[in-house]
Amino acid sequence: MMLSSSSISKKVCVVGAGVSGLASARELRREGHQVTVMEQSGGVGGQWLYAPTPDGGDPLGGAGVHSSVYSSVRLISPRELTCFSDFPFYPTRSDGDPRRYPRHAEFLSYIRDFCDAFGLMDAVRLHTKVLHVGLADDDDGRSWVVRYTEKQKQGDQEDEDVVVTEEVFDAVVVAVGQGTQPRLPTIKGMDGWKRRQLHSHSYRVPDSFHGEVVVVVGFGVSGMDIALELSEVAREVHVSVKSTEAVAPGASKALSRHHNLHLHLQIDRLVDDGQVVFADGSCVVADSIIYCTGYDYLFPFLDTAGLVAVDDNRVGPLFDHTFPPSLAPSLSFVGLPRLVMLPRFFEAQARWVAQVLSGRRSLPSPEEMTRSAEEYNAAREAAGVPRRLSHAIFFDWDYCDAFGEKHCGFPRIEEWKKELGRAAIARFREDTETFRDDDYHDSELVREGLSSEGWLPQARTPEGKEG
Ligand SMILES: Cc1cc2nc3c(=O)[nH]c(=O)nc-3n(C[C@H](O)[C@H](O)[C@H](O)COP(=O)(O)OP(=O)(O)OC[C@H]3O[C@@H](n4cnc5c(N)ncnc54)[C@H](O)[C@@H]3O)c2cc1C
Repeated sequence: MMLSSSSISKKVCVVGAGVSGLASARELRREGHQVTVMEQSGGVGGQWLYAPTPDGGDPLGGAGVHSSVYSSVRLISPRELTCFSDFPFYPTRSDGDPRRYPRHAEFLSYIRDFCDAFGLMDAVRLHTKVLHVGLADDDDGRSWVVRYTEKQKQGDQEDEDVVVTEEVFDAVVVAVGQGTQPRLPTIKGMDGWKRRQLHSHSYRVPDSFHGEVVVVVGFGVSGMDIALELSEVAREVHVSVKSTEAVAPGASKALSRHHNLHLHLQIDRLVDDGQVVFADGSCVVADSIIYCTGYDYLFPFLDTAGLVAVDDNRVGPLFDHTFPPSLAPSLSFVGLPRLVMLPRFFEAQARWVAQVLSGRRSLPSPEEMTRSAEEYNAAREAAGVPRRLSHAIFFDWDYCDAFGEKHCGFPRIEEWKKELGRAAIARFREDTETFRDDDYHDSELVREGLSSEGWLPQARTPEGKEG
């Protein structure tokens, strides 16, 4: 796209202070914009701000806390890859978790370090929940009114009041994540089933499932983690999947190690007396059902008069997962892509948004962007990718490199990182229970890469010089 030397400073609201919102804040500031990040929680980190009590009163809904992280979560992506392009996720803390796949708290510390290193906290307003984002009634029709609640202390009073305020911005970046709103299956008898039903969003610890018969629906990463964890305390764990052929060999291996873990086809119906009847006619009487069935994109505050909609988890129309053609560039989405290297991909999206807003880069016409979005979707559909996976990139490194290079001159992913990524995926597929264990056999290329970035002990001295 065209490059221009002129630079315009815009007043930009970023909704959300997870990694995609923070990446946006940094890139927007670098480009000279005035940035306000509105964050509903009491801290930055998004999903990684662990909330021990999921509250909300609806264990099948997403109305409670934002984070879906359960207590035992460890990264599924190697820490060497799970970082911003220029801010490695080194194990620096003496009380931290130095493993390649650390627990969630280690990643939250990293995100906080990132904020401190780039002085982002003064752009972040915590306890500020965005209620409504709509087009302002101005001449060009391209600025946005953001209505939000914030907590304010009046005089010497102890408690804070919740105040509703409106503010106008030149642009809004939506960075609210994708892992909070439960995606639930429709099952006959689900509404009338009186025993415990919850979505993995509301699962935290296994304690309350002691001695129970539990059905876990879905065997993706969360389903597997939770089923394995429950097998330690529950009497029986029954995992229900759409098709047994779709269970990867690495997952079957994990299943076979646990005497009380059983695989079933999908649930046909739930019966009031506690029975769970599977599609093959088999049946168990269960105490609890946990739906590990993924998440839906949801933007309850966003009012675009129908110009952007979510259809079976496709947010659209969007030009390259980021700009809605008829509202670009004043509205953008950072953080929708799945199965990419995070937060790096979001960083590239954020840089693109920042450069387009400053006028350094231009976008194609709305018609061209719409056509491009349609062609992209049509090509994916022709390749058999279901609509609900429209934003899944499936770790296609060529696509990621081309995206960053084309839109904002973002550096290509280093070859050693791609190789480490491929090796990590292979390990995951080979044995989904043990892939995080510490017996890595990194290739020469990966070891050289780790050395060159100061990951290997011999390459790091206290002075930070090569040893
Ligand atoms: C259990 C689990 C394990 C995961 N493991 C990995 C992993 O190993 N590796 C990996 O790369 N990714 C993993 N992920 C994906 C993870 O979601 C991303 O790494 C990343 O956190 C997404 O960042 P984000 O900023 O886009 O969204 P989020 O982290 O969800 O942040 C969005 C922010 O927006 C705020 N917000 C939402 N609505 C509003 C509003 N109306 N007003 C104000 N603020 C609002 C939220 O409070 C939140 O702080 C995992 C996710 C889950 C749930």
